[in-house]
Amino acid sequence: MEDSRRRIPSLDSLLQSAPFAGLLETYPRALVVDALRRTLDRLRAELGAGGRSAVPGPTQIAEVTSQELRAGERRSLRRVINATGVPLHTNLGRAPLSAAARAALDEVVRGYSNLEYDLARGARGSRHDHCAALFRELTGAGGALVVNNNAAAVLLALNELAEGREVIVSRGELVEIGGSFRVPEIVAKSGARIVEVGTTNRTHPGDYERAIGPATGALLKVHRSNFTVSGFVSEVAIEELAEIAHRHELLAVHDLGSGLLPDAREALGLPWEPNVHHSLAAGADLVTFSGDKLLGGPQAGVILGRAELVDRLRRNPLTRALRVDKLTLAALEATLQLWRDEATALASVPAMAMIGADPGALRERAERLAARLRERSPGAEIEVVREVAEVGGGSYPGVELESWILRIRVPGRSEGELEAACRAAEPPVIGRVKEGTLCLDPRTLLADEDEAFVETVSEALRTDE
Ligand SMILES: *Cc1c(COP(=O)(O)O)cnc(C)c1O
Repeated sequence: MEDSRRRIPSLDSLLQSAPFAGLLETYPRALVVDALRRTLDRLRAELGAGGRSAVPGPTQIAEVTSQELRAGERRSLRRVINATGVPLHTNLGRAPLSAAARAALDEVVRGYSNLEYDLARGARGSRHDHCAALFRELTGAGGALVVNNNAAAVLLALNELAEGREVIVSRGELVEIGGSFRVPEIVAKSGARIVEVGTTNRTHPGDYERAIGPATGALLKVHRSNFTVSGFVSEVAIEELAEIAHRHELLAVHDLGSGLLPDAREALGLPWEPNVHHSLAAGADLVTFSGDKLLGGPQAGVILGRAELVDRLRRNPLTRALRVDKLTLAALEATLQLWRDEATALASVPAMAMIGADPGALRERAERLAARLRERSPGAEIEVVREVAEVGGGSYPGVELESWILRIRVPGRSEGELEAACRAAEPPVIGRVKEGTLCLDPRTLLADEDEAFVETVSEALRTDE
């Protein structure tokens, strides 16, 4: 039998053929040659394995080469459409940035900035001054310092206050967040020794009191950001923890996690969640939280506390290693400016708008999207149903948001196939599978994403091939 591989046109003849002229005009020759070589290698392998017998002509080979070239141009880090309904999705980049934050980023990075330049004095300035005044204004804290993320904030705070000494933590708060932040490991890396007190479900003031000794450096309280405990439970509130610390001339550090500024009951109609004001007013000496959770800004770790304590942190050499860049500071400052007026922030910080979205409006949007998809994908069965979403990103454990989602089934195709097709499209739409259906929640679509969503999903639902 003739080996069909021998009928594949040669690389040189393909490059000289008409279908390749356009590609050679668009891409550098070396890239086209590389992509073509990969295409031909694959083709040879397929023919050799007996997977196909018809040898494609130059036009088809050019088409595959062109796909290969386009895939090579695609960036690794790309936009996706979040249709999971989880506003602070850690795998999907947590908080989307507001228009104001994006504009600030663009302004600061397109040219030069006063990152470390004091414009009033015409002399060297500090990057740490840029967001500090706004944090003081918004929270009443005496000082503020911004580092790379909340893990860095906790590491730095404990290193400064307790290196070579002991940090006392409740066993009920030895949490793991996002797979890689584990309280005992961070404490160890800070150079402090962890002293665990209480039990998984109950810790009492006396547990801390008894553990305090000459080697104690600080008392640490960690917010249980991503799970709840219920039943026979008790924990020591931050007020009481701070009081115990101060009575022993020690300091209390509160890892608050999500950095909520407003009172969630009034602002979002959600249950009480400890916020920044509460923690400071309760007497925590240092409060740390993330910039990209309920604050709705860029990835950052914020440390608030008395001015002289924060100054000590600023002088710690670790601060240099954990410092943030101008992109972070630009986006964070613009986000904080929105928070000067709570109503403005609730409407224009995307994560806040998504969390606070009105279920009636979500339902209408889901119905609109479903109608458009039904029109374009008559083979699909699409219903709009009530569902609950979570806030995500290590905030609001146990709280369920009322959502209205699209549940999609296509006869003859599995829900896994549909989910993968949405994920493979451009831009990818990230959904979930549940009970044999593909579930897409419009809560987390940005205001201008309906069009792209309908494009991608209707393409993924096609049955005519
Ligand atoms: C999210 C979270 C962290 C980790 O914050 P990153 O900004 O992701 O480093 C630490 N502690 C608590 C309580 C959290 O909720």
